[in-house]
Amino acid sequence: SFRPAARLGRIKPSPSTAAAARVRELKAAGRRILDLTVGEPDFDTPERIKEAAIAAIRAGETKYTPVNGTPRLRQAIRGSLQRTHGIEYSDAEITVGGGGKQVIFLALMATVDVGDDVLIPAPYWVSYPDMVRANEGTPVIVPTTAESGYKLTPEQLEAAITDRTTWLILNSPGNPSGAIYTAEELSALADVLRRHPGVSVLSDEIYSEISFTGSPAPSLAAVAPDLRHRVLVVSGVSKSYAMTGWRLGYAAGDSALIGAINTLQSQTSSCPSSISQAAAAAALQGPQDFIAESVPVYRARRDAAVAGLAAIDGVTPLVPDGAFYLYVDCAGLIGRSTPDDRILENDQDVTLYLLDHVGVAVIQGSAYGQSPFFRISFATDIDTITEAIDAIAEAVGALR
Ligand code: PLP
Repeated sequence: SFRPAARLGRIKPSPSTAAAARVRELKAAGRRILDLTVGEPDFDTPERIKEAAIAAIRAGETKYTPVNGTPRLRQAIRGSLQRTHGIEYSDAEITVGGGGKQVIFLALMATVDVGDDVLIPAPYWVSYPDMVRANEGTPVIVPTTAESGYKLTPEQLEAAITDRTTWLILNSPGNPSGAIYTAEELSALADVLRRHPGVSVLSDEIYSEISFTGSPAPSLAAVAPDLRHRVLVVSGVSKSYAMTGWRLGYAAGDSALIGAINTLQSQTSSCPSSISQAAAAAALQGPQDFIAESVPVYRARRDAAVAGLAAIDGVTPLVPDGAFYLYVDCAGLIGRSTPDDRILENDQDVTLYLLDHVGVAVIQGSAYGQSPFFRISFATDIDTITEAIDAIAEAVGALR
């Protein structure tokens, strides 16, 4: 019979996957659900990228590739990092994997030992703490505040570092906050990091191009070039190019760490799909018109959602500078009662109430390590978003 390993007991299935499953179930049972849980673009993968994949299949690019990716893809990744951040990486400083998610997992697996601490500012992407636990490290959660825009401050970083700290995970633009660290803020964090040579930074930049500030989110690797060898930049094509199902992510960093990731990759999946690699190379190398067209669409949805939420008493949206999420403070709803006399004790209750009462699916802040909040995704059409916000207003209006 099935006997789970100890490491399985340390982790749980991703809450976002669980939310998606709940929405599917309710829909299958015939309920109309306004789904704001999705963590993927509603756009289709651009035609040009699909054509590149089809051409690769026809050309027989259907075999194993090098563990660290095809030379063409590595070249395209280097070009993209040079274009967005002005950083020159060598070929040996690049690797690829089945999504940014797999690359992050392998990076932690390659470096985290029992007793190592990994600093994770909250609110955080749901997978970081469990990935650390799966690799027998200890996630150390550092809560952030509204005053700093839900970003880690240099004082907090200094106070959190101990001699067990191996990594700081920085995610900018952040999921779920949409917060972008400015170059000045990164520079101030770099000053602290210079005093602690044992700490490396996993810089998750998967949303870097989905930025409403007019330029891509800055990277610590570019802001503090002297720390470059301690920064692992992780990114991918899922979000920027609407390619979640292609499963292609990448990392750039110190060649010794990249080599270690390659060793693990050689014993896990050998390499990501050759076809996805061809598509990703086309995405990163060709004209960047899809990003230029999609970002203003996300921005318009963000503005509509923020305006709608701001008019609702008891909820406070945090205006995101990037990504496609809104993290909504719902402290004003806690303690109030629903029409059927249940008291909303926490953000999980708020989420369940919105789902039950008006069929709006969002994800509770507790999944992201900071409560009471809920996360709305605006990677869905504007009609669904406005209808859902109206429904939230109605549900909140029915509370006592
Ligand atoms: N990092 C963050 C912050 C994310 O939100 C996601 C996806 O939801 C990922 C990484 C992983 O994306 P992928 O594995 O599709 O590249």
